[in-house]
Amino acid sequence: MKKRNFGKSATAVVLASAMTASALAGCSSKPAETTAAATEAATTAAATEAADAAKGEAGADGTYEGTAVGQGGESNPVKVAITLKDGKIADVKIEGPGETDGIGTKAIEAFPAEMIERNTVEVDAISGATITSKAIVEAATAALAEAGLKPEDLESVEAAAAAPAEDMSVETDVVVVGMGGAGMAAAITAAEAGKDVVIIESQAMGGGNSVRATGGLNAAKTAAQDENEFGETDGVNKTLTTAKESYADNAAITELAATVQKQWDEYQASPEGYFDSVELFELDTMIGGKGKNDIDLVKTLCENSSGTVDWLKEHGAELPSVGAFGGASVKRIHRPVNAEGKTTAVGAYLVPILTQNVEDKDNIDVYYNTTANKIIMEDGKAVGVVAEGETGNTVTVNAKAVVLATGGFGADLDRVVEYNPDLKGFVTTNAAGSLGQGIDMATADDVKADTVDLDQIQIHPTVTVDADGNAHLITEGIRGDGAILVNMEGKRFYDEVSTRDKVSAAEIAQTDGCAWIVLDQKMMDASSVYTGYYNSGYAVKGETYEELAEAMGVPADAFKETMDGWAKIWADKTDAEFGRTSFSSDNDLTTAPFYAIKVSPGIHHTMGGLKIDTAAEVINTDGKVIPGLFAAGEVTGGVHGANRLGGNAVADIIVYGRIAGDSAVAYIG
Ligand code: ADP
Repeated sequence: MKKRNFGKSATAVVLASAMTASALAGCSSKPAETTAAATEAATTAAATEAADAAKGEAGADGTYEGTAVGQGGESNPVKVAITLKDGKIADVKIEGPGETDGIGTKAIEAFPAEMIERNTVEVDAISGATITSKAIVEAATAALAEAGLKPEDLESVEAAAAAPAEDMSVETDVVVVGMGGAGMAAAITAAEAGKDVVIIESQAMGGGNSVRATGGLNAAKTAAQDENEFGETDGVNKTLTTAKESYADNAAITELAATVQKQWDEYQASPEGYFDSVELFELDTMIGGKGKNDIDLVKTLCENSSGTVDWLKEHGAELPSVGAFGGASVKRIHRPVNAEGKTTAVGAYLVPILTQNVEDKDNIDVYYNTTANKIIMEDGKAVGVVAEGETGNTVTVNAKAVVLATGGFGADLDRVVEYNPDLKGFVTTNAAGSLGQGIDMATADDVKADTVDLDQIQIHPTVTVDADGNAHLITEGIRGDGAILVNMEGKRFYDEVSTRDKVSAAEIAQTDGCAWIVLDQKMMDASSVYTGYYNSGYAVKGETYEELAEAMGVPADAFKETMDGWAKIWADKTDAEFGRTSFSSDNDLTTAPFYAIKVSPGIHHTMGGLKIDTAAEVINTDGKVIPGLFAAGEVTGGVHGANRLGGNAVADIIVYGRIAGDSAVAYIG
């Protein structure tokens, strides 16, 4: 790959800027505990102030060091060494052995040059690598403190405005707009079929919302599922009952339920392996989406899910751990594990691997910091895009086919509120580039793409807001793995593994519209994602239930009663009060110490978008295919209906990304 204009843009958008303060005031406050990172930075700064006093002159020439906690936790902090000369930053060295390869490491590579060039440690976070970015700035601030300086004591040099680059025009076979999971799957597929591909990405690095996906990828009938013992009888029965009782008037759901019932009867007569079927996956997805989904798109998603796990494996990404997730009758979410056998966040795992695949291909060119704003149409066919480059120059890409993979619009809070006024004031978990620009381009007068379900916007029930007001998603997997939700009264209040819309609604009805996710040390030990939450300062901790209750600010007696009661519910596998049917086989939440994360619902996923068919062709307002225009991932609508199941976004982006790539290739011929 010829890398073009990658680099940390001085204008990279900080995640926080895309967010508003939570309307759920009680929840926007940080747990009493200071973040681990802040503590670390403060400690280093305090210790070094004394050293500074001894050294004498503030800002004297020399090299100063600071540390802060990033993704690697306290045992593997980010270290920054700043060399000052004549009151200016002359050199910056950053080490972060625990930061995520291909994500945090991008900030480690990019920040020294910017800090030196602008003579400041106050650089904007790279969207997608915010935790590492923040840790670097904290460590750099601590290093300056060692020199007796505050960040504002340095005379910052505004980056010299780069001379505007020339307008340019390139030719290719396929132009892919957006470098999230869907865009990369499409680009890799088309490139492997021998086509030349150009990717246009508006941000300084790819990843979009995909890199933030923590859960996993839903797939049915995989070899990894068969490694599990089947214990989800109640889950399957519950789904079949729901189909009968709530969706008797939905032909697609009724037909699927009849097929699944047959498969289920056969399995029960002679159980072999782990029970799941493509049809049960379809049924779960349809019920999860309240029957509003496009059944053909759902079928294509589910039929191709298992093959997608294999495709990812062929491209270097393995998802061997299978877990339970909200709205799935059985264990179906496929997750990566690290060298210690702990499950890890799927997006942070997949995105660098897909990026590597992109970079390894000579026939893919990537243009970062370049924002597409128009689809070029000729004789009713899509033949390229016009984009704005980093310096405001025009980049025209003439192509034989266009794939839109620009993601959703969950970071455009005005647009969110326009479609659903009830969501005013909510925080968002979305990446900065999720602005709905793909929808705008495709619905322009000369393209006339149709849209579906734009008002279907998912709020995720477990979003935590840090001290700076930044929202962070806490994966649904934490509940599938055994965590429970308790309210400010210290009590459970709902089936934790129900669908996102229902859990969110239940949470909003609690005091302050918040809840606490409670987990134990055993869960922490099994997941680097969960230890990451603690290291990032999102969780409070207690050696006993009472101690944890105090840290949470909930009544200790009630909380202890809840936890003791939960251990019994878990042992009996019967939740008479709230009807939870999925119980982790390992975690009964009795292993001290205990942890809790305060959460409230936040804007998470936009289910609606461009209307596509099962070949990822974009459909216009007359119901006809727009020749040469394909779309995949969150920019499209119809797959998820009124509510997306956890694990279906990653399945969607890879399945439909590949289909879009294949279809573009077939179209070109
Ligand atoms: P998905 O994988 O579902 O496509 P993501 O959010 O992961 O969704 O990826 C979408 C990507 O598209 C993001 O990296 C985002 O920055 C990028 N993007 C959005 N709008 C544009 C645009 N107008 N031009 C170029 N890239 C864009």
